Amino acid sequence: MDIEQQAAARLAEVQALIARAAKTADRDPADVKLIAISKTHPADAILPLIHAGQRVFGENRVQEAQAKWPELKAVYADVELHLVGQLQSNKAVDAVELFDAIHSVDRPSLVAALALAMEKTGRRPDCFIQANIGDELQKGGCAVKDLPALLAEANAAALPVVGLMAVPPAEIEPAPFFALLAKLAREHGLDQLSMGMSGDFETAVWLGATHVRIGSALFGERQR
Ligand SMILES: *Cc1c(COP(=O)(O)O)cnc(C)c1O
Repeated sequence: MDIEQQAAARLAEVQALIARAAKTADRDPADVKLIAISKTHPADAILPLIHAGQRVFGENRVQEAQAKWPELKAVYADVELHLVGQLQSNKAVDAVELFDAIHSVDRPSLVAALALAMEKTGRRPDCFIQANIGDELQKGGCAVKDLPALLAEANAAALPVVGLMAVPPAEIEPAPFFALLAKLAREHGLDQLSMGMSGDFETAVWLGATHVRIGSALFGERQR
């Protein structure tokens, strides 16, 4: 298989697994958006997926995305770009200009910076509040106990918050964490759930994911 065929085959397999998981949970597969996480991968690796029909991509670093995507977007204007990594407040304007959705809103200072950036640029990417669902010390995301206050701040700042995002702790069964995120979203009247990666996206779909963020299952293992 050449690289184009391999990309198309991986994409078809992931799509089929998402569809199967959705049907198992009596959900419409069309309600699950597949975000291809292209971090660390150059345009050469991204193009085969675009050629296979994939249009939604995600990056975890603003600078890396700025180096790669404007050129690709100039050709494929219908590409949708999501930021899934930690965002520094001083990059808020750059992020709002480039991305169509931001999954990593996790603190009041970033809420303020994004609100200002949206006012300045006139762009309003969808925002997900990232929850530190396993209350892990080293991990990004808002502590679960601080979530109501952060959501209130985001509402007061008129951020377009559409849902919650989380990365559950590694090496543990993720289902309880996905279920908790879904419960928190319901409690706050949010209907979008960004959860599920290459190793656990079927479980995430069973438990209500509307956005799955998949890197290695589509691109192969990352080098760094
Ligand atoms: C890298 C990354 C992913 C994709 O991870 P894979 O295991 O390669 O699918 C998803 N979400 C976030 C936040 C990431 O940084």
